Amino acid sequence: MSTGAGDSPAYQAIERGSLYSLDYRVFIKGPQGIVSPWHDIPLFADKDKSIYNMIVEIPRWTNAKMEMATKEPFSPIKQDEKKGVARFVHNIFPHKGYIWNYGALPQTWEDPNHVVPDTGAKGDNDPIDVIEIGSKVAGRGAVLQVKVLGTLALIDEGETDWKLVAINVNDENADQLNDISDVEKVYPGLLTATVEWFRNYKIPAGKPANEFAFNGDYKNRDYANKVIGETNEFWKALMKEASPALNTISHVPEAVHQATDEAVTAAVESTPEHGASAALPGDVDKWHFVQG
Ligand SMILES: [Mg+2]
Repeated sequence: MSTGAGDSPAYQAIERGSLYSLDYRVFIKGPQGIVSPWHDIPLFADKDKSIYNMIVEIPRWTNAKMEMATKEPFSPIKQDEKKGVARFVHNIFPHKGYIWNYGALPQTWEDPNHVVPDTGAKGDNDPIDVIEIGSKVAGRGAVLQVKVLGTLALIDEGETDWKLVAINVNDENADQLNDISDVEKVYPGLLTATVEWFRNYKIPAGKPANEFAFNGDYKNRDYANKVIGETNEFWKALMKEASPALNTISHVPEAVHQATDEAVTAAVESTPEHGASAALPGDVDKWHFVQG
């Protein structure tokens, strides 16, 4: 898989199985071999400058819902499914698929046993989500270096689901974007469109509109950085659990469940070799019109 400018050349995406099928996996290879993008890629690319690593799960303009498999060893990116069927997001007029590069920050976890005081809702049991609003379409499995500008607090089916807003530090506009208040100046309309996107994206599938904490207002950079710090602490605690509900096999020295070469080989070989893509659903380009 190609990696564009601004991607970290230290990491490589290794595809297995067939794109758009349930056996599709993207493993991430670092300088020392296969790693867990969730556990082994450092949260910070540059801590002093608050620059984070971001793992891209879904490239902009695509519809296939992909996410790190938090229950599988080495957390490869996989095709999300519902009742055995691959999940694709619908296009809500006037959008096409995801309207940003979508992914997660490594070494974070939204603890489902913790009620977030500011939202009143528990964590969603996943790494924290990020939308990267830069000019380029990033590759699936790319590791970007981003600065975080702010966050939305989506309440998705009763769970807190932070959506961090970030910019690739190598983007042509990165110097102009330093806090959430800069976004409207550089990308007029994007923040409003983003709230609408998250509010409505499950409606064509028969679900209600999503809700937001804080009336759908964005929190700023300082607030977002604080949220990230908290989810990093929850992740650290998870890595110390003897019998976690999620897979925590890792190369990080503090991890209770240590990775081995044998475990890497077994994880990769449990998946089929990379094959031809499955067909996209016939209605993947359809526009859906919802009442705002
Ligand atoms: Mg989430």
